[in-house]
Amino acid sequence: ERGDRGDEPVEFFAPSLRREQDDRIALEAALVDAIAHDELEVHYQPVVAVGTGVLDGYEALVRWNRPGHGLLQPDAFVPVAEKSDLICALDRWVLHEAARQLVAWTEEDPIGAADLTVAVNVSGRHLASATIVADVAAALHSSGLRPERLTVEVTETVLVDVPRASLQMSALRRLGVSISIDDFGTGYTSIGHLGALPADILKIDRSLVMSTGPGATELLALIVQAGHAHGLLVVAEGVEQQQRLDDLRDLRYDSAQGYLFARPLAADDVRTTGPRR
Ligand code: C2E
Ligand code: MG
Ligand code: MG
Ligand code: MG
Repeated sequence: ERGDRGDEPVEFFAPSLRREQDDRIALEAALVDAIAHDELEVHYQPVVAVGTGVLDGYEALVRWNRPGHGLLQPDAFVPVAEKSDLICALDRWVLHEAARQLVAWTEEDPIGAADLTVAVNVSGRHLASATIVADVAAALHSSGLRPERLTVEVTETVLVDVPRASLQMSALRRLGVSISIDDFGTGYTSIGHLGALPADILKIDRSLVMSTGPGATELLALIVQAGHAHGLLVVAEGVEQQQRLDDLRDLRYDSAQGYLFARPLAADDVRTTGPRR
């Protein structure tokens, strides 16, 4: 079969696949530099108590201020980072930065910011890694943030291997941080398995929260009841309409997050005081 091809290099990939592969490698390399040179930023989106309107805290959301490219949103680079252990370095950077920032706000505004929390997203790959517990402990230690003020968000879809994820989540909870199951309703975790998860918070995916189709409110009702029955705080993300917030209040949701309150804000635009009390 070799015949005609002579000494030509073997093509493993179709040209378009190879280009994608090259792009990914270039993006990965740029992201390694970005982490080292502080091109990443954390934006903060308020999370608000539904019953009282009081600010609970913020979710930390990464952005990449990439020279020549503007401010990149996570969907442009987090999936690439997740293909290797680069995501662990990224998550670690965000953990440290968010913890440091919350302590800085608390020093500026000891009364207003005292009880605020920050939730940081951790990739499934990082959750499964050998360093996750040490990484979270290091962020707490270097910032001086009290562990009860930090929440680790884990996307529901990583819970495919529930026993393994549960061990890691339990180890994190022993540090004193809270665990939130993010994007609930998009994966395979059934409501019946909620009790088996070592978690504190259930965060309902915005696709469910934004849905206004038949049965949408009933589904939100079912989930909040199940979450509460298992001792979880229940948070709705993606709240854009006042009517939906009113529904969530009637349904006894604990907290809500969404453009109705604020988009994710650069740290300089965040106010720890103001309408919260
Ligand atoms: P997520 O953790 O589910 O974060 C919520 C996303 O919903 C954010 O998108 C937020 O801007 C968006 N959102 C919030 N409220 C509304 C709303 O009312 N309407 C609409 N349309 N969207 C809303 P963002 O910042 O683009 O982040 C996307 C995802 O990227 C996050 O989803 C999270 O899975 C991932 N991500 C962000 N930061 C990090 C990080 O530091 N580490 C890791 N591993 N993943 C991250
Ligand atoms: Mg999240
Ligand atoms: Mg998520
Ligand atoms: Mg989410």
